[in-house]
Amino acid sequence: MKYLVIVGDGMADYPVEEADGKTPLQVAEKPSMDEIARRGRMGMLQTLRPNLPRGSDVANLIILGYDPCSCYTGRGPLEAAAKGIRVGNDEVVFRCNLITVEENRVIDYSGGHITTSEAEVLISELNERFSSVGRFYTGVSYRNIFVSKRGGGLRAIPPHDIVGEDYGKHLLKPDNEDSRLLNRMMIESVSILSENQVNIRRRRMGERPANMAWIWGQGRMPDLEPFDVKHGLRGAVIAAVDLIKGIGRLARMFVPEVPGATGYYDTSYENKAVYAVKSLEEYDFVYLHVEAPDEAGHEGSFETKVRVIEEMDRRLFGKILDTVDENVSISILVDHPTPVSVRNHTLDPTPFAVMKPGLNGDGLPFNEDSGFKGSFGLVDGMEIVKLIKRV
Ligand SMILES: [Zn+2]
Repeated sequence: MKYLVIVGDGMADYPVEEADGKTPLQVAEKPSMDEIARRGRMGMLQTLRPNLPRGSDVANLIILGYDPCSCYTGRGPLEAAAKGIRVGNDEVVFRCNLITVEENRVIDYSGGHITTSEAEVLISELNERFSSVGRFYTGVSYRNIFVSKRGGGLRAIPPHDIVGEDYGKHLLKPDNEDSRLLNRMMIESVSILSENQVNIRRRRMGERPANMAWIWGQGRMPDLEPFDVKHGLRGAVIAAVDLIKGIGRLARMFVPEVPGATGYYDTSYENKAVYAVKSLEEYDFVYLHVEAPDEAGHEGSFETKVRVIEEMDRRLFGKILDTVDENVSISILVDHPTPVSVRNHTLDPTPFAVMKPGLNGDGLPFNEDSGFKGSFGLVDGMEIVKLIKRV
């Protein structure tokens, strides 16, 4: 048996009053996802833990069967693994967002979704200015990496948690030399990046400047048991964002670079579908992650989220149903909710569906309500790969 698991990042939501009490998944026209759900069985998946960060890092580790209590060190190390960055045992890896600040307030955690080539220019300037503190690496768009010998054990705040707030209140607690040094670097980055040609041009074009380096999500490199040893399945990961690719690399799964995969609305859904179906020829378990619904949740746009789900359905799920071997088991998961009303991740369980040849379906469309009615009931995230294999 071969398994395809498709994860819609942040796709689950709360009912919205203005939409007649419906969620984006209930409003979106998504015939292919609904077909998978109807032919399969549904349930709710608990992918997060109250005592751990509410993010895709923890959720995707849990879904793949890795206990974050023993292997989660931070988001930064996972993304560094994706890029094959060499990190010393005495070094700490941070995620570095290029964010937008205006009059000391955080306006945008994504620096106006700056392009990767623009980010490269800004990152190289940061490397010139702060080589004594650490090294910066370009990732995808606003998602970059910072490696330093300084800063172990600090508590850093994710920038998407402080949009609209004064950043000065959310810097590292200045109670030791490392945090004071890193705070100085973040504050100085504002004037340096604001004057960079990339940001001067962006302002002129009416785009948000990516004018501050915000470091967070730090930790030392974790050690994961290989996925094939853990589950007896040879695995592949199809993803655009470094976080998910990094988990795949650390779990020694096959992680191809998919052309046109951006982690945003302009991603090539078609290429991701093609790579997923192709990977199934050689691998037993293909984990296909789509970031775009999460971005719509953070933007707080119900309409955008509905449109993203519809595009995913047509261009990714539809293509997969048309081309995949009918003996493949297909599952739809959501790593965590990113409700448009909250504009951030929540702890709630998420709906999931498992379709497998010969399985008696629940006959329900794919949404939160069906998840609660589904025959699997509430399942812990750590159990989902075992469940998909077993049913
Ligand atoms: Zn998110």
